[in-house]
Amino acid sequence: MKTIGVLTSGGDAPGMNAAIRAVVRTGIDKGIKVMGIQRGYNGLLNGEIFEMNRTSVSDIIQRGGTILRTARSDEFKTVEGRKKAYNVLKVFGIEGLIVIGGDGSFTGAQKLSDEFDVKTIGIPGTIDNDLAYTDYTIGFDTALNTVLDAINKLRDTSTSHERVSIVEVMGRRCGDIALFTGLAGGAEYIIIPEREYNFDNLCRTIIEGKVRGKVHNLILLAEGVGGAEDMAKKIEEVTGIQTRATVLGHIQRGGSPTAFDRILASRLGARAVELLVEGKSKRVVGIKDNKVIDVDITEALNMKKESNDNLYDLAQILSY
Ligand code: ADP
Repeated sequence: MKTIGVLTSGGDAPGMNAAIRAVVRTGIDKGIKVMGIQRGYNGLLNGEIFEMNRTSVSDIIQRGGTILRTARSDEFKTVEGRKKAYNVLKVFGIEGLIVIGGDGSFTGAQKLSDEFDVKTIGIPGTIDNDLAYTDYTIGFDTALNTVLDAINKLRDTSTSHERVSIVEVMGRRCGDIALFTGLAGGAEYIIIPEREYNFDNLCRTIIEGKVRGKVHNLILLAEGVGGAEDMAKKIEEVTGIQTRATVLGHIQRGGSPTAFDRILASRLGARAVELLVEGKSKRVVGIKDNKVIDVDITEALNMKKESNDNLYDLAQILSY
């Protein structure tokens, strides 16, 4: 393997830069030419490709976002689009492609390797933590800390006003951001797609809490369940307690990555290059029990994420 390419695709996540840095510097250390591809599969189709060196990744380990930019490409979803991408890779002499992104980006890599002679390795870069094969995805820990910071501030004001505060967080169909921040932030109630919730029960918890002297109520709501604004109105109607909704939105995608995310990104980035050097393809790297692992892409995409029942139950016990 003489030349490899690296791109970031789909939603951005803090720590993507640390992963790019690890790919570039590990590649160079192994005598491989590393090409940076800008704007995901879109940029690949447009030939937005340049050679990277050690200094092109200087001073980025602490930066959120991705210096390679990210994009979505509908053209790449077609076989004609992927044929074009293959031709571009060939012209640039790129034999192996490292894709940093989520499940959509991994599916693209899987198809590219199935259909054409390109070796691909995926690195999980998404704040959602929605990939079953790995304990953590790059960006998740930073997003948790961002949400936690917001929760701490909301607590101050909702305590002052003795209000109910509903915080809607991201995660698509995965409730991990809500669950982990709910536990860490001492939420009274956590609503996630993985667990059924009962509205009457929620209102009862709020009313009972008030009777016991609770001065505020914090509810963590995963976006995959529903909208916070509607829920706030309904809670206020039933309980008579002022209820405010806060939708954190894209603020959760930004910020300087935490130490955890930087270390995870560095380990996974380096391993992705090693796998290409070993001649492997169609694999995704991840972390299981603090060990770096790699799994077949198709197998990884077919795995169903186990719900974190223990954490959910613990959060419920501790919220009393
Ligand atoms: P993420 O990687 O964060 O899940 P997306 O689902 O938006 O983000 O996927 C990013 C890009 O990956 C898409 O714009 C598209 O180019 C490619 N992609 C997604 N799904 C497929 C698919 N089924 N087949 C081929 N390419 C895909």
